[in-house]
Amino acid sequence: RPKSSMDGDGERVRVTVRLRPPTKAEQRDDEGPFIFLDTDRNTVVLRRTGSFEAFTEFQFDGVLPSGCQQVDVYNTAARPVVLDVLQGYNGTIMAYGQTGAGKTYTLSDKLACGGMSVEGIIPRSAAEIFARAEQDNDNEYHVSMSYIQIYMEQIQDLLRPESCNMQIREGETGVYVSGIQEVEVKSAEDVMKLLLLGDRNRAFSFTKLNAHSSRSHAIVILTVERKAKNFSEPASEASDRPHSGSSAGFLEGERVLVGKLFLVDLAGSERLKKSGSEGIRASEAMSVNLSLTCLGKCIGARADPNATHVPFRDSKLTRLLQESLGGNAKTSLIINIAPCNDYLRESLSSLSFGSRAM
Ligand code: ADP
Ligand code: MG
Repeated sequence: RPKSSMDGDGERVRVTVRLRPPTKAEQRDDEGPFIFLDTDRNTVVLRRTGSFEAFTEFQFDGVLPSGCQQVDVYNTAARPVVLDVLQGYNGTIMAYGQTGAGKTYTLSDKLACGGMSVEGIIPRSAAEIFARAEQDNDNEYHVSMSYIQIYMEQIQDLLRPESCNMQIREGETGVYVSGIQEVEVKSAEDVMKLLLLGDRNRAFSFTKLNAHSSRSHAIVILTVERKAKNFSEPASEASDRPHSGSSAGFLEGERVLVGKLFLVDLAGSERLKKSGSEGIRASEAMSVNLSLTCLGKCIGARADPNATHVPFRDSKLTRLLQESLGGNAKTSLIINIAPCNDYLRESLSSLSFGSRAM
């Protein structure tokens, strides 16, 4: 089994910041730049004005300016994770940020734009998986896709929306959602068709609730099974296998490697204004707040060698991602920020979240 590039000291979450370009309205309204990116030093500086001017600097693994291309985002924040999944490791790619900062664009976008390709991370990851499977003469691949959302701590299957409030269980192969649809996919097009179907179901369920989907986490799961074509039992003991534990790996007694890739479009991180949020809106906000805080603690604990307790069980999201956030799993966190002054407080909060994860 090949070593993961994350082996050794590589257990850190990789954090990339992406600044989206301003909309026309934002270009008109803003009175000068508030966010400065230095792609050589991988730093972001926020300038706050008011009674006095203040600068805050952050450093990350990667910073992507508003002019960057979708392919740059893929190469920086996604590709290393996808390659590990093809080797039988679990991996997670998450987009964090306030509503409107560009999370969905970064993950899911697919537009045929006058020959220019602006596809997001999900179609590119799928394309890479199938291209590599095609080129590999020694192994057969089987890829399946699931698509769920977590809203108010309830899991709904977006490929079979009548399945809601689904339970997370733990079995021999690890943590799973009981009864989840796993649809076989044979191409990136298949993946995008299912994504579209799930998005339609998602929009429909939120219209019925008179709520907004930005209050839920949307999670695509691609399971990649790799099976050696010519296989002879190795002479060595089975216990020589590097990981027989939960972080994906060999199916017992078989010649199969399984890696799971979680692609997570997180709920908007914005705090609701205190006034005017009552009833369902307040409950939604609390639920999002709870799970994002818990996520922050779980990935923060990973960065902290002295952490003793990782509260994976405190939210559905972290419980589900438990085996894909730690150990041999590779985790990439994308912090999406918007360039305008109105969003500055939220941008500051998102950048702080990102820097605590490192
Ligand atoms: P979020 O999912 O975080 O709420 P979206 O991805 O929906 O945000 O982005 C908000 C708007 O900005 C959308 O209209 C989207 O197409 C646009 N947008 C976001 N990021 C970019 C980008 N990098 N380049 C061009 N347009 C973008
Ligand atoms: Mg979105």
